[in-house]
Formats: sequence, structure tokens, C-alpha cells
Amino acid sequence: MEIIIGWLYPKLMSTYGDRGNVITIERRAQWRGYHVTVVPLDQNSTAADIQSVDIIVGGGAQDRQQEIVMRDLQGNKADAIRDKINKGTPGVFTCGSPQLLGNYYEPGFGQRIEGLGILDLVSIHPGENSKRCIGNLVIEVTATRLAQELTEIIGRKPYLVGFENHGGRTTLGKVEALGKVVYGLGNNGEDGTEGAFYQNAIATYSHGPLLPKNPFIADWLIQTALRLKYQEEIKLTPLDDTLANQGREAMFKRLKVEANASANS
Ligand code: GLN
Repeated sequence: MEIIIGWLYPKLMSTYGDRGNVITIERRAQWRGYHVTVVPLDQNSTAADIQSVDIIVGGGAQDRQQEIVMRDLQGNKADAIRDKINKGTPGVFTCGSPQLLGNYYEPGFGQRIEGLGILDLVSIHPGENSKRCIGNLVIEVTATRLAQELTEIIGRKPYLVGFENHGGRTTLGKVEALGKVVYGLGNNGEDGTEGAFYQNAIATYSHGPLLPKNPFIADWLIQTALRLKYQEEIKLTPLDDTLANQGREAMFKRLKVEANASANS
């Protein structure tokens, strides 16, 4: 079985180390014997390239690079991404990427940029003199179906640990939040929401990168992609995540957050 990972604008949208998400999916799939190809989706790609992928990964970017991407991602390329996400292609989109999948982004300096309108959210940077949202982030996943499916994978309530670094503040419209903030600021530092979840697209402010710190999300992406592609029940063989789990526990302890709740609590 094969998985094709589409990586959105690797050269422009890799400012914050989110390349680690691509590597994590790639390795965790290969360790289970799946064949993996990583395809860059950028200015040189076509709509057909976008249609060919099984998982989409998009990282963060600074405003200027993000603007170049948002201006390139129009027409049939935008339609292809919209179509893939609407049809349930799994993906993980971090920080600048959810901003471009939303209705619009207003940078700290310059004009509003229209987004793809796939996620019903808007993001506004309150200006270059405003404080950025920077620091460790812990969330409890509350998006109903995702929380259930992750609980099946790990046997307890899913908490994500990461690191946020953004100027933009996001307000959700009708889209479901990915989770609620346990530590940190999340979407806007005010309403306690973090990220968004739509079809099988995970949008988050969490760098870290996200997946090495929360490997069960990578497994959920792989499992969801394989089920969709091969139309059969897929159960991934477990991997030894002792080190990742120890890292998570150390971070929870350091931040003094209770994130060990069992599935029933
Ligand atoms: N440019 C966006 C912001 O500052 C995204 C930052 C990021 O991707 N980390 O809000």
C-alpha cells in the first residue's frame, strides 16, 4: 500500500519547523511497511498534482511568504484543495496554513488577503505593535468525532502539546474548534478555543512540530488516508512511543497541567 503526502509550499511555508510533521508521517508509515512519496505542492504544481495526494500537510509562514502563497493558490489549484478537503482527505495545517484555508487574513501591515474559504474562520493581525502569541500550548481535543477516534487509538482523552507563535488572531464561524486551551492562548487568547476541525482537516496554531510531540495524530492521519484510499478497515501496528510519551509527561509536569485523564473521566 502506498501513501502520497502533499506538502504545501515547502520553501515558503517552513519557517517554524513544521517540516517535522512531514517526516513523522513518512517515517511512521514506512516503519509499518507502507510505501511513501512526498510531493511538494507549490507554484510549479498543477491541480492534478493536488488531486493525486492522500494526505496534505501545510506549515506556518511569515506574513510576506504567506501572502505570496495566498496569491498563488487561486483558480483550479484552489478548487482542487477545496475538493480534496471537502471529500475527506486528511490533513494537518499549522498556523499560517489554516489562516489561508479560512475566509481571509488581515496581516499586521498591508491589505486583507482573501483565503480559500474552506474553513469558516477569519484571522486578523492586530498590528505590528501588538504582542505576538508565543509560548507552550496544551489543548484538550474536543472536536467530537476526532476526539472519539483518537481516544480509540490511545485509550484515553486526547491532549495535544505544542508551541504557538503567531500574530494573527483567529475567530471561528460555523466550523468546529479542534479543542479547548488548557495552557497557552490558542486561536485568539480570549474565547478558549484552539484550531479547527473540518471533515478530516486538522487546523491548529500548534507548532512543535505537532506530530513528533503527539504521534497518535500522525497515526490517525495515516489510518484515515489508507481507509479512504483502499476502502477497507486499516489497523496500524503499534510502535514504541516511550520517548515521545516521556517528553509529553515532562512537559505536562513542567506546565503543571493535568493531562493524563482516562477516557472515562
Ligand atoms: N503570519 C502568521 C501570523 O503571524 C502565521 C505565523 C505562523 O505561521 N507561525 O499570525
